Amino acid sequence: MMDRRRALSLLAAVGGLAMLRPSVLFAASADELAGEGQAELTGGNVAKALVLLHEAESKDPRNDRVQALLGRAYFQQGDARTALTHFTLAVRLNPEDTLSRLLADTISQFPMPAAKDGPGRDPSPSRSRPSRLAQEAKAEREALAKGAGKTARQGPWRVLIDAGHGGLDAGAAVGGLREADVALDLTLRLARALAAAKDEVVIHLTRTADVSLPGWARAGLAGFYGADLLVSLHATRVSDPTAMGIAAYGYGREPSDALAALVARVENAAYGPGASWKSRGGEGLFLAAAGDAVSQARFERGRELARSLLRAIPAAAPLPARIAGTAPLKLLEEADAPGILLETGFLSNADAAASLGSPDKRQALAQALADALLAALRGVKMPPAAGRG
Ligand SMILES: [Zn+2]
Repeated sequence: MMDRRRALSLLAAVGGLAMLRPSVLFAASADELAGEGQAELTGGNVAKALVLLHEAESKDPRNDRVQALLGRAYFQQGDARTALTHFTLAVRLNPEDTLSRLLADTISQFPMPAAKDGPGRDPSPSRSRPSRLAQEAKAEREALAKGAGKTARQGPWRVLIDAGHGGLDAGAAVGGLREADVALDLTLRLARALAAAKDEVVIHLTRTADVSLPGWARAGLAGFYGADLLVSLHATRVSDPTAMGIAAYGYGREPSDALAALVARVENAAYGPGASWKSRGGEGLFLAAAGDAVSQARFERGRELARSLLRAIPAAAPLPARIAGTAPLKLLEEADAPGILLETGFLSNADAAASLGSPDKRQALAQALADALLAALRGVKMPPAAGRG
């Protein structure tokens, strides 16, 4: 097991994220304070951030964004115990806050010093909470861990759909159309379309709003949810004018063609510093916490599913199914699940940009992808219970 200091230094890097949806339900003043606190956090001024965030909390104790930011602030201070309490509250207030969920789960896997009451030891004497809450938090973590269990099981496929980019990372942008928005809209439509088949697939999403999410968190979430398949939606732009239609990529060390190499270059740039952590020896802190080691069998399954999915896209889809390839994509390499990166259309292509800019066409495309995904999963010989590892 990694030592705790290393865990915390890695987790503290999360402090740079802006991951939270704006709260529309609560007083603006708490949100304003949260925004100021977030800016202080990003600037590295944790003490100032904590003052602002606790003021925000006093105005609105049920603001999930404030709780998540408090979690990050205590993380940066090295106070994992208090951070865990706030992350758990954030998840309870907003079950869609997947990053707080992952962090709460990850922290809970590392030993924490016993709480002490003496002055100078407890870093947050004013933050003491009723022990009942701590017990609830523990029960919640255990329930989460149970839900993400990796033992063989019967039942529907678990599919994690990842809307590429988001927040500060717009991805490709053409004529006011942002790849991050296209990916999110398609993801939400795809999830809704698949909800009709809930006996066959259980859907999880890496993000449900326009928020930043680093690549390693996306990869970690695949393991966290025990996903049988990760599908990452994109719509990049490339300099190759022949790039058109829909392309589905599985992981391969070598790109299958020049376009696959271009796709890998641009999508890996957005993925961020996952691989460099590996090379620095931080390998698998999140990924190990969340899942198994890299496996060739998993890559092969991802490539198979990418091919099957592309073949199963109906001819009537708004954009034609064109390419099933392989590419050295970091997300697919590091995620603990077979993965497909889907270019739902290349925004550099005028037809694709027109289709992806139309809500009706996006709906038709999402339905086509839902049908194709179900067909691909039905075609897999091994069921999800035996399919992993
Ligand atoms: Zn992309």
